[in-house]
Amino acid sequence: MRSAMWICGAPGKRRSYLSPGTEEGSESQSGLTTRLPKAGETILGHKFFVGFGGKGANQCVQSARLGAKTSLICKVGNDSFGNDYVDNLKKNGISTAFVGQTADAATGTASIIVNSEGQNVIVIVPGANLLLNFEDLKRASDVICKAKVVVCQLEITPAISLEALKMARASGVKTLFNPAPALADLDPQFYTYSDIFCCNETEAEILTGIPVGNLEDAEKVGRMLLERGCKLVIVTLGAEGCMMISGEEPIPKHVPAGKVRAVDTTGAGDSFVGALAFYLAYYPKLSMEEMIRKSNCVASVSVQAPGTQSSYPYRKDLPQDLF
Ligand code: ADP
Repeated sequence: MRSAMWICGAPGKRRSYLSPGTEEGSESQSGLTTRLPKAGETILGHKFFVGFGGKGANQCVQSARLGAKTSLICKVGNDSFGNDYVDNLKKNGISTAFVGQTADAATGTASIIVNSEGQNVIVIVPGANLLLNFEDLKRASDVICKAKVVVCQLEITPAISLEALKMARASGVKTLFNPAPALADLDPQFYTYSDIFCCNETEAEILTGIPVGNLEDAEKVGRMLLERGCKLVIVTLGAEGCMMISGEEPIPKHVPAGKVRAVDTTGAGDSFVGALAFYLAYYPKLSMEEMIRKSNCVASVSVQAPGTQSSYPYRKDLPQDLF
């Protein structure tokens, strides 16, 4: 039986073009020079590198590094990026039995250009992600319905994510939904099919129209989202940790993150979701507050190293009281 299962999309690969003089190490850290090119202009860059991404894949990688048995359901192109993508999942011990490769679209990509001020321009091409379909889910139904946790996001066609949540729910599998990237007109069924609805401040604002600037705001948006039908809402708050709003407890709970020196917070939310899925699957007797506290600890380790997946900690490198 697989313990955690992701149905997700990319951008499967994340390509960063960094301008001259850019600091080593991270896709999204600031560079040291110049400007973004104007239309029609060619400029010299200093560094180029390719990293793996996709929110679901990131989450799955974090969970696998903590020791979870994981499976990813997604679609990539029949191209070199797709091949590398599958290899990367395998290297992380993730089952790729339901990672399809299609000749009908390229692997999803996010091409990012970063200038010396850390400003960027990004072009996302979802590509093969949008070709993940109901048939693919049907083929994977055994793994979905026997998982302990199913985790979905919105980087694939929303109807496919929703169907996966429904399949999981019908089999009594716990559902963890991360509404990212957020849609202002999210289908209301996503709330009712989410046991845990986990979003960050920006996503919460898009979903509710209320900016989240402090803990009171987080409580307010959390209550609003809870009223839409999920059992538990978690709003992640960066260095502040999380706000937990549960249908079972009248008072929302702030679960702070430890103080750390953050060098790159890219992908912290995915590290958090991956860790939470791990605790839900392997430590179901822990209180939700304790699971969130432990997930905060894992995610706060990830922000202390550059990059996204490259910053995600392995079980052996974490304090053993997290397990
Ligand atoms: P996202 O990456 O989706 O924007 P957040 O920024 O809310 O998500 O971060 C997710 C989690 O990562 C937080 O709830 C916290 O546990 C951890 N985290 C993020 N930034 C920091 C930080 N500066 N210090 C400590 N922990 C952090």
